[in-house]
Amino acid sequence: MTAEGILRERGLRVTPQRRAVLQYFLFNEGDHQTADGLWNHIQQAFPEIARGTVYKALHDLIDARLLEHIPAESGGDLYGLRLTPHHHFICDQCGHLYDLSPSYQPLLEAPNGDPIAVVREIDVLLRGVCRSCAQIH
Ligand SMILES: [Zn+2]
Ligand SMILES: [Zn+2]
Repeated sequence: MTAEGILRERGLRVTPQRRAVLQYFLFNEGDHQTADGLWNHIQQAFPEIARGTVYKALHDLIDARLLEHIPAESGGDLYGLRLTPHHHFICDQCGHLYDLSPSYQPLLEAPNGDPIAVVREIDVLLRGVCRSCAQIH
């Protein structure tokens, strides 16, 4: 689905800024950016868009739960696409943040199989050393 289609489906007004921000994350699947990093990419594609309006659009999309906000200890908070549920892995060495596929059961069951709850969202962050830093092949 296009950025415009997703915005309409969620009942959001389509603005050039919202479309540009969402499009960036749709085209760069699995990528997470800081607000400044995102701004650099948007500015290259849309030089006429002002920085403040990009930050505003970023927060609109977080409020609409289309984008995720991952607070970072170093202050370089990251933003990414939130269309499919996923976990995160951060590499201790390079600091890169990876999306992980969630292998959880959306329906929680008791040991006897009785349904307990439906999981709406999971937010897990794993830390360690990633494949390229650990030189695992
Ligand atoms: Zn790494
Ligand atoms: Zn993510």
